[in-house]
Amino acid sequence: MSYVILGHCCKDGSCLQVCPQNCIHPAPGEPSFATVEHLYIDPATCIDCSACADACPAQAIKPEAALTETEQVYAQKSSTYFDLLATTRPPRTSTPAIPIALRSSSFRVAVVGAGSAAMYTVRELLQRSTSVQITVYEQSPHLGGLLRTAVSPDHRGIRQMMRLFDIPFADPRVQTRFDTRVGVEVTMEFLRSRYDAVVLAYGAARPREITAPAAADVHQAIDALTSAHAAHAAGSGPIRLVAGPTVMIIGGGNVAFDVAMSIAKQRILTQSGAPITRVVIVARSPASRPSFTFSALYELSQHDVDIAVDTGGTPISDVAADPLVRRLAAIARDGGALARSAPLSVELVFGREVIALTTADGGIRLRTEQVAAGGRVRLTTVAAEDLSADSVIMASGFVCEPMPGVPLGADGAVHNHQGRVVSPVSGETVEGLYVVGWAKRGGRGGVGENRRCAAQTVNMMVADRGAI
Ligand SMILES: Cc1cc2nc3c(=O)[nH]c(=O)nc-3n(C[C@H](O)[C@H](O)[C@H](O)COP(=O)(O)OP(=O)(O)OC[C@H]3O[C@@H](n4cnc5c(N)ncnc54)[C@H](O)[C@@H]3O)c2cc1C
Ligand code: SF4
Ligand code: SF4
Repeated sequence: MSYVILGHCCKDGSCLQVCPQNCIHPAPGEPSFATVEHLYIDPATCIDCSACADACPAQAIKPEAALTETEQVYAQKSSTYFDLLATTRPPRTSTPAIPIALRSSSFRVAVVGAGSAAMYTVRELLQRSTSVQITVYEQSPHLGGLLRTAVSPDHRGIRQMMRLFDIPFADPRVQTRFDTRVGVEVTMEFLRSRYDAVVLAYGAARPREITAPAAADVHQAIDALTSAHAAHAAGSGPIRLVAGPTVMIIGGGNVAFDVAMSIAKQRILTQSGAPITRVVIVARSPASRPSFTFSALYELSQHDVDIAVDTGGTPISDVAADPLVRRLAAIARDGGALARSAPLSVELVFGREVIALTTADGGIRLRTEQVAAGGRVRLTTVAAEDLSADSVIMASGFVCEPMPGVPLGADGAVHNHQGRVVSPVSGETVEGLYVVGWAKRGGRGGVGENRRCAAQTVNMMVADRGAI
């Protein structure tokens, strides 16, 4: 499936800056940019990462599967545009123009972490300076971070982004020190004294904590998915993980859907080796503003799964502007009561905040409260509600590991302004310290978003130094 740009695109170019594939055209500077009515996505190279749709201020980008009948014409227009382009001009070069900073004497940069945010940062620095010297410190023996371990093998296009590491990490200006954990093997103090700038690209893979009784069968989504993906890649079959066939996934983002997908594909089984038959995804967000993407729901619905939606009393409209909300409204209307004919049922329970987790009847009981559609205020008029399951998988957000000398904000991300690390106490910028990727955004956004994120951070470095 590809993404498609609709006619009300205003050509502001926000999508171009986040697309990891450079598959949106024409870009500013390309011949037909001034004359086309809207931009196009090349269906042959789009990897369905959704970064452009998230970045589009006009909500003019949709997954192909979400197009209405009248919008199908835009998918056809895209194909025609790229077919014509292939016959009329040499291979495209589409990297948006970036300001090249003036060269100065050698600029020494330490990058903490070697995930996708680090890769985009290294690439950006190399493009802007011939004299930069970069040392990347990575705690594991591998490049790639979560892109290598946690991203589903079914998202082949995204996984293929690992090839983007090849060129920057082979550059003679870049050295990588593997198996080196900053904060343990080397200190931040050491890095700050040795380098002109330190860029924190160490991610935010630590799950938010929830208090659970020791006896409760609770798992972390990243651990479960990393094990399931590794076992799948090694051909060693499914993993036996949870205590029983009913699993509650706490968290309503794409990671929760990745877990549900792995269960639907029977890559995660019960400890006895039996399939999981019921999954309940408990989302804090209201059904009118879901935190997962259309693609996540679409992929799940391609499997033999009964899907039900519980909006928690919040009305959603099947003429809503957001195609995902329309799809949820249609499921709530047509399939609200589960048919229970498929081997797996997945219930999407919206607008619930888990406030306590206890053991009961050999399983787990979750005390939840409904959350008002506004998202912050709890509805006091609605009684608390108990949900029960054999096991819980936590997918409710991620925060940074604490690191000496690195200030964290209330959202669990490194406290920063546009990539410059800022002291939460004095409000002043910490000179020479920068942040990028999930460490900057607090566990939000996909791999493609790291591209624009890295460009912003490097812009700050250039502005602070005058030249790199
Ligand atoms: C389960 C899951 C599935 C996902 N699926 C998708 C998807 O399908 N599509 C998509 O676009 N996005 C997906 N994402 C989001 C994507 O993984 C993130 O956008 C991306 O990984 C963030 O990149 P990063 O470089 O900031 O962090 P990371 O990828 O986490 O990289 C951080 C790196 O820093 C290293 N590190 C950490 N601490 C230290 C230290 N102290 N010293 C040295 N090194 C350190 C880590 O080992 C790691 O290599 C998924 C995320 C999760 C959790
Ligand atoms: S971000 Fe949206 S409005 Fe802007 S150029 Fe891309 S498709 Fe058009
Ligand atoms: S950002 Fe992602 S979804 Fe959008 S066009 Fe590029 S590859 Fe496709």
